[in-house]
Amino acid sequence: MADRLSEYKRKRDLAQTPEPGPRRRRPSRGDPIFVIQQHHATAMHYDFRLEVDGVLKSWAVPKGPSTNPATKRMARPTEDHPMEYATFEGVIPKGNYGAGPVIVWDRGTYRNLSSKSMEDGLHRGHISFELDGDKLQGGWALTRFRTGKDETWLLVKKDDEHANRRGEITSARPESVSSGRTIDQLT
Ligand code: MN
Repeated sequence: MADRLSEYKRKRDLAQTPEPGPRRRRPSRGDPIFVIQQHHATAMHYDFRLEVDGVLKSWAVPKGPSTNPATKRMARPTEDHPMEYATFEGVIPKGNYGAGPVIVWDRGTYRNLSSKSMEDGLHRGHISFELDGDKLQGGWALTRFRTGKDETWLLVKKDDEHANRRGEITSARPESVSSGRTIDQLT
């Protein structure tokens, strides 16, 4: 795990940021977890994270998730985060990597909907999973459509009973599921 989190550690001065340092491998006992953290760094975005093999695989989604199956949201892969990051909410101080407020916008567990493992799907560039969160439920897919330096994936809601074509859930439900505060109330 130490090797997979080396980029996470390299980017941060853990004495200067309130973010957690990787301490120990702590996989979930039941279903694997997911978390979406709204993060107002240089630009506002939503960090989408899925527990896979003891770390949080992560993507930055500038516009956040859409419950409309017709809407594809760009998702840029970022470094693996330690499991402890899933509960992090707070303000990363100026001068640190990703400086700005972070809230836990949604969290819960997920289930792999593919017959292949999550690791295999990530390698092949397509994963599909069912979320059981406070705000997001039902089937979702992440598909890689650009590789290389600007590697980009698309996050899309599956067309099921949890799809909703009206409005934006990021606007309708802006609050933290952890504290009830919005990101503006955190600063
Ligand atoms: Mn971020």
